[in-house]
Amino acid sequence: MEQYLNLSAIKLENTYATLPEAFYTKQYPSKVPSPKLVIWNNLLGEELGENLDFLKQKQGIEILAGNRIVEGTTPIAQAYAGHQFGHFTMLGDGRAVLLGEYVTGKGERFDIQLKGSGRTPYSRGGDGKAALGPMLREYIISEAMNALGIPTTRSLAVLMTGEGVVREAVLPGAILVRIAKSHIRVGTFEYANQFRNKEELKALADYTWNRHFKENQEQEQPYVSLLQEVVKRQAKLIAQWQLVGFIHGVMNTDNMAISGETIDYGPCAFMNRYDPDTVFSSIDMSGRYSYQNQPKMASWDLARFAESLLPLLADTGEEAIKIVQEEIDKFPEIYHAFWLEGMREKLGLFHLVDGDNALIEELLRIMFECHADYTNTFRDLTLGVKSSSQFADSEAFEQWYQLWQKRRENQQESLEESKALMESKNPTVIPRNESVEDALKQAVENQDYSAVESLVSLLRNPFDYSNREVFYEMPSDFSDCGYKTYCGT
Ligand code: AMP
Ligand code: MG
Repeated sequence: MEQYLNLSAIKLENTYATLPEAFYTKQYPSKVPSPKLVIWNNLLGEELGENLDFLKQKQGIEILAGNRIVEGTTPIAQAYAGHQFGHFTMLGDGRAVLLGEYVTGKGERFDIQLKGSGRTPYSRGGDGKAALGPMLREYIISEAMNALGIPTTRSLAVLMTGEGVVREAVLPGAILVRIAKSHIRVGTFEYANQFRNKEELKALADYTWNRHFKENQEQEQPYVSLLQEVVKRQAKLIAQWQLVGFIHGVMNTDNMAISGETIDYGPCAFMNRYDPDTVFSSIDMSGRYSYQNQPKMASWDLARFAESLLPLLADTGEEAIKIVQEEIDKFPEIYHAFWLEGMREKLGLFHLVDGDNALIEELLRIMFECHADYTNTFRDLTLGVKSSSQFADSEAFEQWYQLWQKRRENQQESLEESKALMESKNPTVIPRNESVEDALKQAVENQDYSAVESLVSLLRNPFDYSNREVFYEMPSDFSDCGYKTYCGT
């Protein structure tokens, strides 16, 4: 079969390949025996533009599976490094190929990446493949995150490759078609600074600025601005995670996207019972990436980003270090402001007043003490359901509730407006671990994708307070004890 496909329907660019060659390797995806499209994300397809619809057809599937290449495109694997659990390593796309960049009718540029598409020069000992379960998991969770209003990479499609991948057992192989604003990571900058020269680092920084931050004014100190913007986007992103109880699980610097999107859904999961120490990942023995550590770890990762920029920040090393210190020191405050604003809204409060921080902290303390479910607590407060079993007999909760009510009544806005604000911020549904596992089991064992699809359609309306059935679906596994997630390798 002819490998190249001459298509007028889709035009893919690859501006990334204009960077110095050290940043990538030209790489075709591996061919797979019998590709089958099992998930097509209609919603995302429509958002990107109708001309992508042909990808659902026979020829399109050959492209998504990596069996054929659109003529005139340059698929690449990207080079990057990263600190994994604190240790610096050379990495790179070991099981992914960037097909190219798709530009929408509105002029927005997105990477189309195949994840699980075979070995590359960066594969180290790995097989370059992915199993169906983890790829479907990424589809489910990333759709949920998007619906919750949290920046994230998306999943356009999942394909079965028709071959088995060897893990602890032989599992059905799959490819995830990932859409991202870009795949530039903190680790990409670490790679440039550690292994390349200043010109190449500068080329990466300039490219990144133009791709993601161009809308900002021309800056006098463009690289300091780059650092500031990345810090701000991450602070906001992590605050958004905390506000919905999302635990990423593996916040290594290679898994932090410069664009500010959530990326690399491995052992992530949503917290049920409120416990700041919650960890799901089987490999996170020390709790490095626990719920409460996420802001600290983001700041740690950003310090690695800042260090990578040192040669560009100032004329002297001393000056540059001073800038890094100053900018990284600002993170806790910027993060806290985003978090506080989000929590204020979750409690139906329109403006911050003295004492709000303490009011929030007290609620969290009581939630922890009462083993309360994080999502359901805020949902019940929204609904005005006070007598929830979670807080039965809690004197402290009763007192807190009265204080909160007074605080709500004393604001200018009505209680109806306050409730509407809460409804727009407190989800009624999140991807509960058990529902996700059940849906994946049905898909992987029986090739029945209906549970995945119905879960995703539920998760796409997380703020729908008219769906009564969903409200009272308490997690049957009320605690998170013993629930373990694994990296999708
Ligand atoms: P991740 O845990 O998915 O963020 O991946 C960390 C690094 O390991 C990245 O460089 C991946 O490309 C690489 N990697 C993960 N799984 C595989 C695999 N099956 N084969 C080759 N490389 C892999
Ligand atoms: Mg990764």
